[in-house]
Amino acid sequence: MTTLDPRALEAAAEAVGRHIHYSRQSHNCHRCRRTAESAITAYLAVTQPIVEELEGLEELPVGTIILDRFEDESYTRIVGPRWVSWVEQDGLRHTEVALPARVLWRPQS
Ligand SMILES: [Zn+2]
Repeated sequence: MTTLDPRALEAAAEAVGRHIHYSRQSHNCHRCRRTAESAITAYLAVTQPIVEELEGLEELPVGTIILDRFEDESYTRIVGPRWVSWVEQDGLRHTEVALPARVLWRPQS
């Protein structure tokens, strides 16, 4: 689903390149780009995991913010099995959230 921001990927590839090649010059080496992409993807899998199943949604604490399948709206979990957004201010139930969703943020527990 979520594609990496090209500008952020470029910055990460350059940071990787400085370590791999001991170079201060920016470059566009395929290997550095792939390394950066792999590292960022692995990082996001932990910090912003994808929720595929209903049970995964139910386990998220109140206050969690997700991006639904269509990636055009974020929802915040409020009390009970409800998620609200600017558009859906009355709230959606767990079963109405379009999965898979990406967890953007969750409160520390
Ligand atoms: Zn490189």
